[in-house]
Amino acid sequence: MHLIIHRGTHEIGGSCIELQTETATILIDFGLPLSGEYRSDDVKKKSKQQLLREGLLPDIDGLYDNPAFDAIFISHAHQDHYGLLSFVHPDIPIYMSRGTKELINVSYTFNQSNCDLKNIRTVDSWKTFVVKDIKVTPYLVDHSGFDAMAFLIEADGKRLFYTGDFRGHGRKKVLFDAIIKKPIKNIDFLIMEGTMLSREDEECRTEKDIEKEMTALLKSTGKLTLLSCSSQNIDRIVSAYRACMKTDTLLVLDPYTAYVLYALKDIAKGVPQYDWGGKMRIFFIPNKYTGKVLNEKGMYRFGKAKITKEEVFSLGHKMLVKDSFTMRSILRNKRLLSGSTLIYSQWEGYFREQEVFWKESKVEVVKLHASGHAYLRDLVKFVNALKPKNIIPIHTENADKYGVYFKTNIVMLEDGKKHEL
Ligand SMILES: [Zn+2]
Ligand SMILES: [Zn+2]
Repeated sequence: MHLIIHRGTHEIGGSCIELQTETATILIDFGLPLSGEYRSDDVKKKSKQQLLREGLLPDIDGLYDNPAFDAIFISHAHQDHYGLLSFVHPDIPIYMSRGTKELINVSYTFNQSNCDLKNIRTVDSWKTFVVKDIKVTPYLVDHSGFDAMAFLIEADGKRLFYTGDFRGHGRKKVLFDAIIKKPIKNIDFLIMEGTMLSREDEECRTEKDIEKEMTALLKSTGKLTLLSCSSQNIDRIVSAYRACMKTDTLLVLDPYTAYVLYALKDIAKGVPQYDWGGKMRIFFIPNKYTGKVLNEKGMYRFGKAKITKEEVFSLGHKMLVKDSFTMRSILRNKRLLSGSTLIYSQWEGYFREQEVFWKESKVEVVKLHASGHAYLRDLVKFVNALKPKNIIPIHTENADKYGVYFKTNIVMLEDGKKHEL
């Protein structure tokens, strides 16, 4: 069996793995790089030929024209794992979880990606299926990307486990614990993400800590509170919702976030919904353009949970309001921002561009975030439990540190180089 990691051996994001056996060729993940000179707009504006020339699209035979791939597997709905899918030949079947499919579709609907999914086959966790001579078993994993999967691949007498992005401290921690308790046996190659090896100074909060700290903050504050987090980080939205329930606080969301939650309602019963009884309200930005968008996307159902501008202005501290550009502008114009609190609940790296705004608006910023990726202590636990014969670093800027932390043979690969397993 041959393995080529086209991208990801020395960077976080843009993961793309090719596997070739005697009879089958498959691709696992086909992500947009997060680093480098590429911009996410490039995939919308530039042609395939141009992007191949510039190197954003890896040069892979049989992926774009004259399709020779038997399958593509996508681990989860983060663009650094699926963002280049729109360029693959439409005859190649793409396998992913139901949640991943729903979220990619939502991103397409709202023009956040150009991946208009076709030829999708959804797969269930722990159910093995076969692509020619390759056996694949998806494992549901804990990650900030909803319904994320790892893949166990069996072919040519070898067993590979690709972790995708994963962690052991989110709302689905139990999945991580289950693998530790009953490890997958006889792994020849563990292809494991190592995002946190370059973010070792970050605090190791769990999603439970976030819920607890949000609850304490909402309980004690007498002021309006804003929440800055990704609408697709379902664990985080659930934490916020639970903190609101415990403190009798209204959670005010934008229609897009409500739409994301609604798209997942049949997949996970615990995802809070607009019609659960009044604790979640939706703020419609009142203008002509929004009206048009809401109409096109059938979002008027959320009208039931609507909250007006006047209500938002008068309720003050009994609300946790999801931050958005429009929301903060409206609040600032009404002079309601000054003295309020912002819970900043995303990766620190995104904060710099907003810092001045919050400072000038006299908003107190409380940073409350738990990473989407496994902390070093959990990576060590994972490796110790699985006892793989080899580890192949991916999705990391510190492949060289694997040898320091894991007492296993490390197979260091370079992007685009073919390796025989
Ligand atoms: Zn990733
Ligand atoms: Zn991810």
